[in-house]
Amino acid sequence: MKYISTRGDKTEFSSSQAVIAGLAKDGGLFVPKNLPVLDVPLEELSKKDYREIAYEVMKLFFTDYTKEELCECINRAYDKKFDTDKIASLVKRGGQHFLELFHGPTIAFKDMALSILPHLLKCALKKNGINDRVLIMTATSGDTGKAALEAFDSVESTRIIVFYPKGGVSPIQERQMVTQTGANTKVIGVKGNFDDCQSKVKEMFSDPGLAQELSSNGFRFSSANSINIGRLIPQVVYYVYAYVKMMEANEISEGEALNFVVPTGNFGNILAAFYAKKMGVPVGKLVCASNENKVLYDFFNTGIYDRRREFILTTSPSMDILISSNLERLIYHSLGDDAQKNAVLMDRLFEDGFYEVGDAQREYMKDFVAIFANGQQVSDTIKHYYDSCGYVIDTHTAVAAYANLKNMENDRTKSVVVSTASPYKFTRYVLSSIDPSLVSDDDLEMASTLYDISKVEIPKAISLLKDAKVIHDRVCETSEMPDMVREFIRN
Ligand SMILES: *Cc1c(COP(=O)(O)O)cnc(C)c1O
Repeated sequence: MKYISTRGDKTEFSSSQAVIAGLAKDGGLFVPKNLPVLDVPLEELSKKDYREIAYEVMKLFFTDYTKEELCECINRAYDKKFDTDKIASLVKRGGQHFLELFHGPTIAFKDMALSILPHLLKCALKKNGINDRVLIMTATSGDTGKAALEAFDSVESTRIIVFYPKGGVSPIQERQMVTQTGANTKVIGVKGNFDDCQSKVKEMFSDPGLAQELSSNGFRFSSANSINIGRLIPQVVYYVYAYVKMMEANEISEGEALNFVVPTGNFGNILAAFYAKKMGVPVGKLVCASNENKVLYDFFNTGIYDRRREFILTTSPSMDILISSNLERLIYHSLGDDAQKNAVLMDRLFEDGFYEVGDAQREYMKDFVAIFANGQQVSDTIKHYYDSCGYVIDTHTAVAAYANLKNMENDRTKSVVVSTASPYKFTRYVLSSIDPSLVSDDDLEMASTLYDISKVEIPKAISLLKDAKVIHDRVCETSEMPDMVREFIRN
């Protein structure tokens, strides 16, 4: 399996090389030259556990890793760090299935992929005889940052620097990041929004001068953002897993269509569902659920992607994004894998702030259904599930749960709502939706309240925050981000 850029650079990368590089040199994203097809029958997969299914999926993409290497990565990633040995938990509440992807160390779904990325990367460096140290540089809308910090904390030969929008993440998210231990970690608040952070990080990745400076200090860049195939591919696994576990539970029969409803921001999670479908999993609709930053809703409904709009801070901050990076991969595929045409559209987005796709592209994307929820609808949905069955969902999951209820008005296909964060990560919004009188000034105290009403055990990720010391307190302008990087690699 070879990987090439979505923007026209014809250089072919092996999977391990693509994991190391993160982003293609021309600014494009790596895509598999051909999407593989599952070679184990679904019936057989349904008897396997998460790790075994992970192997069956990942071996098709990470073809230059040996079986031993890949299994070791998988076993190290999906272990006791997760608070359920199922790793991903498929639950039925109020008649609806939810795929809980928040049982990892930082209680958001980013752990599903970031737990394995450092292992894939370390192995890749060794395979390719690279002795440089790696600087992981990441922009975060809140959850990636912590999951990446946790994953790379004290990993030898790596350093990680995380930029987050100051004031644009939840209090718990910020506290999780700024208390990060590990001498190889650095967290910086940026005076700007997530798109500002992400654009600057992308720019730094393709800045030859900065790469040169890094290199003379014995470093090279890599990315832990969802543009790295080392993040994208591990996410395909849980869609295969969810489908076959629905079969095993006799909720669907083999071959029956199953919709996935995905709370979407950077489009990585839902793109993984699309890849699962292309690989032969009988996925029906891919319901793309957005918050009020509904750039994807508008795109799927009009064919015009237009980022020229106000950036709205919502109660689902991890989805506050106007430039959904991974959509580029779908656009590229929709153009019949034509990188030249894709590059034209991406240049337009960069220069003019919008692009439009044609009818053939829209036809290619017809399985995507886009729905958005506003703040009130998110709140009402949280309250609805709590009142009707005592199940507490977080704000991101609620965006999807709302979209699911809406989609079910005219689609009777069974569905799975992808649950991307623990309600403990967004306690303030969750409690104020259920009963505003439960809200207090202290975010950690509210965790106890949430426990009282839900009886779901408080995750360690939260209880340990109480006594954790703030280690990172730097804040910078977007323009100063390269200086932060330079400073970090010099000492
Ligand atoms: C990152 C994130 C999302 C959005 O996922 P994408 O892959 O960026 O679309 C949704 N919910 C939560 C809780 C997240 O952390």
